[in-house]
Amino acid sequence: MLGPESDAKLKTTDGRFYIEASEEKSETIESVLSRLTGISGWAKTAACPKTIEDVLHACIKEGRKLSNMGVKTFKIEARRTDKSFPVNSYEICCQAGDAVCETIGGLKVDIHNPQDIIKVEIREKAYVYSGSKKGLGGLPAGSAGRGLLLLSGGIDSPVAGFLMACRGMNIDAIHFHAYPYTSLEAKQKVMRLAGITGSYCMGIRLYILNFIKVQMRIKERAPPPWTTILLRMAMMEAAEKTADKTKSKCLITGESLSQVASQTIENLNCTQSRIKLPVLRPLIGFSKEDIILKAKKIGTFETSIEPYEDCCVLFTPPHPVLHGNVTEANTIYETLELEPLIDEALQNQELVK
Ligand code: ATP
Ligand code: MG
Repeated sequence: MLGPESDAKLKTTDGRFYIEASEEKSETIESVLSRLTGISGWAKTAACPKTIEDVLHACIKEGRKLSNMGVKTFKIEARRTDKSFPVNSYEICCQAGDAVCETIGGLKVDIHNPQDIIKVEIREKAYVYSGSKKGLGGLPAGSAGRGLLLLSGGIDSPVAGFLMACRGMNIDAIHFHAYPYTSLEAKQKVMRLAGITGSYCMGIRLYILNFIKVQMRIKERAPPPWTTILLRMAMMEAAEKTADKTKSKCLITGESLSQVASQTIENLNCTQSRIKLPVLRPLIGFSKEDIILKAKKIGTFETSIEPYEDCCVLFTPPHPVLHGNVTEANTIYETLELEPLIDEALQNQELVK
C-alpha cells in the first residue's frame, strides 16, 4: 500500500508490528494505517536506548510535546516485556511521572481520567510515545475471501463495501451504467467511489458494464410497475456470472430493508431469486441517517452526493410493485429474453483497477 518507492520497512515481533521509516513518510504511513482493517491501533514512536535515564529523558520530551498541545493532565503506562531491565513497570511509572511533573510546569498526573497517556514499552528496545490512535479494528484485509460489490453511484453501496472490508473481505466491484442515457461523469464518479472503497481493502477491481440494451428491452416489454425489480434481477444475474469468473464467493449490495420500494422483503426475494450465490446486505438494518454518518466517516459521502444520474433513473415507475411475487416476477422476466443482451454486456465489460 505504501508503494515500491517507499523506504518503509515492516518488522513483526510477538504482539507488535513495527514500521520503520523516515520522518517525511510518517504522514503517508499514518494515512494508510487509518484505512487498514484488522489493527486495533497504532502510535508513532522513536526507539530510545534501554537505560532508565534515556527513558526518563524521552518521557520528558513527550510531556513537553503534550504541554505544547495544551494538554493539562496525563499518566504514564509502562510495560516491561524484557524482565532483565532493572526497573519494574510500577517504578518506571513513578519515576517518569515525577520527572515529567518536576520538569514541565502545568502538567499534572491524573490516573483515572488523563487527557493523554505517555506509554513506555521495554522490549528489544525501549519505546516511549503518546497520542496513540485507534485503528479500524475488524479482521485483516484478505482474510475472509472475496466478494463482488454492486456499486451504484449512491451513498449506500460504498458503505456496504467498507463494512465487508472491515470483516476482512477482498472486494471487487461491478457497476452498471446506461451511457449515452447516463453521462460519462456519472461513470467517473463511480470510479472515484471505487477508489475510496478500495483504499480500505488493498485495492479494488471495478467491472463496468453498459446495460442500456437490457434496460431498453425491459422498458419496451415489461409492465411499468415491474421495471425496477426486473432490472435488479438482471443485474444480479450479470453480477453472478462475473463473480463466478473472478472467484467471488458472494455478492454485496447496499440494500436496506424498506428504504425504497425495491427493497421490501418481498422485492428483495424477487431480486435474488434467479441466482445461487449468497447476497450479503450489511446495511439491511441501518437507517439512512446511520449510513450517511458512516459515509462521511469513510470519505465517500461528498462524492456520492455529486448530482450525476444513475442508470435506474431511466425507469422510475410512478406506481412500482411493492410486494412482488417471486413466481410472477420470474414469469415476466422469462418473456423478456434478456440472456443474450446480458451476455453481450458482459463480453464488452471494462475492467478498471
Ligand atoms: P446506494 O444504495 O448505493 O445509495 P441507491 O440508493 O441509488 O444507491 P438503490 O436503488 O438503493 O441505489 O439500489 C440498491 C442497491 O443495488 C445498491 O446499494 C447497489 O448495491 C445496487 N445497485 C443499484 N444500482 C446499481 C448500479 N447502477 N450498478 C451497480 N449496482 C447497483
Ligand atoms: Mg440505497
